Amino acid sequence: MKIDYVKARQVFDSRGNPTVEAEIKAGKIIERAIVASGASTGSNEAIELRDKETAFKGKGVLKAVSNINKKINSKLKGMGISAQKEIDSAMLELDGTENKSVLGANAVVSVSMAAARAGAKAKEIPLYQYLGELAGNKKFVLPVPQMNVLNGGKHAGLENDIQERMICPIGAKTFNEAMQISTEIYHILKSLMKKKFGSVAGLIGDEGGFVAQIKNEEEKLELILKAVEEAGYLDKVSLAIDCASSEFFKDGNYFIGEKKFSAGELTDFYSELTEKFNIYSIEDGMAEEDWIGWKQLTAKLGNKIQIVGDDLLVTNIKFIEKAIKEKSCNALLLKVNQIGSVTESIESANLSFKSNWNVVVSHRSGETEDSFIADLAVGLGAGQSKFGAPVRSDRNAKYNQLLRIEEALGKNAVFGKK
Ligand code: PEP
Ligand code: MG
Repeated sequence: MKIDYVKARQVFDSRGNPTVEAEIKAGKIIERAIVASGASTGSNEAIELRDKETAFKGKGVLKAVSNINKKINSKLKGMGISAQKEIDSAMLELDGTENKSVLGANAVVSVSMAAARAGAKAKEIPLYQYLGELAGNKKFVLPVPQMNVLNGGKHAGLENDIQERMICPIGAKTFNEAMQISTEIYHILKSLMKKKFGSVAGLIGDEGGFVAQIKNEEEKLELILKAVEEAGYLDKVSLAIDCASSEFFKDGNYFIGEKKFSAGELTDFYSELTEKFNIYSIEDGMAEEDWIGWKQLTAKLGNKIQIVGDDLLVTNIKFIEKAIKEKSCNALLLKVNQIGSVTESIESANLSFKSNWNVVVSHRSGETEDSFIADLAVGLGAGQSKFGAPVRSDRNAKYNQLLRIEEALGKNAVFGKK
């Protein structure tokens, strides 16, 4: 089946910012995909093309839309719809840069995801299976969700703050049970927050978690563990944090709340938090340029817990290879729009698996109703996802899709972390 056309439109994300929706037609098949957008972005991410004109304070994406309607459409028209690699390669060739700055990563990735959806339809198989085939994986796994229940940093209008505190129902038997555990804890946490800080404390940040008016990190994690305990799930839930520390790294030091840390002191701080609060995973504990700090952190904690690279790796095999060689971390945070195509995302995941790293498939803080990454997590058999709190439809679109997939897999459904 051949591609008849590719076209695009400007739509809106969960923060009310313009973003790209691509649409692809092949025979009777029409499929779409929408791109998410980050706030605490890594400086080496592929370029998200914005119009930089007066409309939407420069955030319009009409140039990216036009690149799809004209250049990408001309290039892809007539290609086979199930040739994902060739489709992605054709767009990379057309762009001709390392960071997709000509066409825009938002243009390329939206078409790439829409093409995968259409490719799956043409083969009459579910998207997760199609993505699994592209990755060479047959073991479909429902991921343990890392759910960001206390938002901080850029996602909550706070400075010098750890960005995400997540509950992870590692001990659940199924994804369905994981959802029950997580939502029950979420609601108890909401009551605790309101009791302590008044009704305004029930309001939420960009990823659906509450925004604590607490300065002390320990107090925040204690509050979460209290909610886990009250819900009766202390034996089934571990915690994870995403520090997004590039945001509080200045002149070689890290600033959290009123405190200043060297990389070594910060490693000791994380080590204490890990022991005290049953933390199994730390993401972006060090800043993207602090490769020495990353190495120290992994040397100290890497044999006990998961050390996840987000801004450090930007889903790019160039940085993943360097981090493998230097033992900088032991897990990849996979964000499709960071690298800008489905094929490259799969390559990054496979390189990570090959090095015995874990992979966490992730959303962005600016999300949409598109649930592509839910299928991707299952198709890769990654075993872990990071899609925010279990509220708001931009986040629950992914969780609800995982529930559908678990139901469809029936007895063959496998849940859990690698
Ligand atoms: C993250 O840092 O992992 C994240 C999801 O945030 P953003 O999308 O703002 O980069
Ligand atoms: Mg991150």
